[in-house]
Amino acid sequence: MIEIARARREAGLARRPHELIDIVGDPAAALGRVLAQEVSTDRDYPPFNRAIRDGFAVRAADVARVPARLRLIGESKAGAAFEGELGAGECVQIMTGAPVPRCADAVVMIEYARPDGDAIVFERAGRAGDYIVPAGSEARWNETVLLRGTHLGYAELAMAAQVGAVRPQVYARPRVAILSTGDELIPAGDAPSLYEIRNSNSISISAQCALSGAEPIRLRKASDQKAELRTLIAHGLQEDVLILSGGVSAGKYDLVEDVLRELKAEFYFDAVAIRPGRPVVFGVCRDKLVFGLPGNPVSTMVTFEILAAPALDILGGAAPRPLAFFKARLKYEITEKPGLAHFLPARVAFPAAKESSRAPGDSAVDATVETVHWQGSGDIVALVNANCYLVVHEKEERIPAGTWMDVMPRRGFF
Ligand code: AMP
Ligand code: MG
Repeated sequence: MIEIARARREAGLARRPHELIDIVGDPAAALGRVLAQEVSTDRDYPPFNRAIRDGFAVRAADVARVPARLRLIGESKAGAAFEGELGAGECVQIMTGAPVPRCADAVVMIEYARPDGDAIVFERAGRAGDYIVPAGSEARWNETVLLRGTHLGYAELAMAAQVGAVRPQVYARPRVAILSTGDELIPAGDAPSLYEIRNSNSISISAQCALSGAEPIRLRKASDQKAELRTLIAHGLQEDVLILSGGVSAGKYDLVEDVLRELKAEFYFDAVAIRPGRPVVFGVCRDKLVFGLPGNPVSTMVTFEILAAPALDILGGAAPRPLAFFKARLKYEITEKPGLAHFLPARVAFPAAKESSRAPGDSAVDATVETVHWQGSGDIVALVNANCYLVVHEKEERIPAGTWMDVMPRRGFF
């Protein structure tokens, strides 16, 4: 049994509209869409026994002992097979990707063969199966290769194209209304007076929506006045999700939460133990999801990535992508206030590893991470000087240099 709000959301998702996309017509537009159907193979993969080296198709028994001299009877290339059968004592020249002739069971690389009149002399023994990928060994005919809910990345698009599923059903992209709040905000294309601030959050939120497969719909900005906020919020609630920025802290002109309450929003949370981004709010209003992200640009971006992106994944028909952390060694000691999870703008460096020196625990090839200097959650300069977030967990305080740390990539950056 599940509670009614969740059941209603599930039902809403089941009804989510599907649409057809055209992978061949516009592969770039298909990128990042989420499959609403399974994709299966229309034949075996590979469809024939495929050679994976340039060389000669042979009967392995004929090259069990070397040197061996086999009569050359033809060639097989990609797109044009040798149609005959390979007899004992014979070989066929074969190219990478070409079908292996009937009765051949090994490919010997060209490097180990030399021509000798109408024959080829093999210098190295071969075994049955060498350099042949058998028909159907990657996937059988009618085997499911892409599940419903799969994000179409470049590999998935190649897979769909390769099995001829060129017009798959995908979920409609969630529509996200974006509402920036603040008396000081002006459109980013305008020239600001001293105390005016260009509205960059509506740009970063739009871009992050796109990275999450959602469709951003920007509303005009709202001033810090209840009546105007009420009108624009009501407008935004016509879309699948409303994402506000600014006006959620404890200041006198932070009115977003009040207005949402007046509109009978139910909140799941109105603060999170995270820095930057502590005052972030999330709730349901008129059956739509609403995020109130803090207005400081770095807070806005971090809270979107951590809290709004998973909701958009689910609404878009996919499983939420997990927060992906990797490990790097801390370059310099840091001290952070405990009790909050910190996502600090940081730079990770992957030293160019010499293959010869690569060994487990070899610190010369470990990734290292250092925080960038920052003035807090308003500092976009710091974020563009960074290439990742250094994650400092709630209980940590003073962390010595050399510690293995969790590092979170910026979505779409690495
Ligand atoms: P607030 O969360 O409304 O208190 O705003 C915190 C800080 O973020 C203030 O310095 C605002 O000027 C700034 N800010 C708020 N909204 C935006 C926005 N849309 N674009 C850029 N900066 C903003
Ligand atoms: Mg404000």
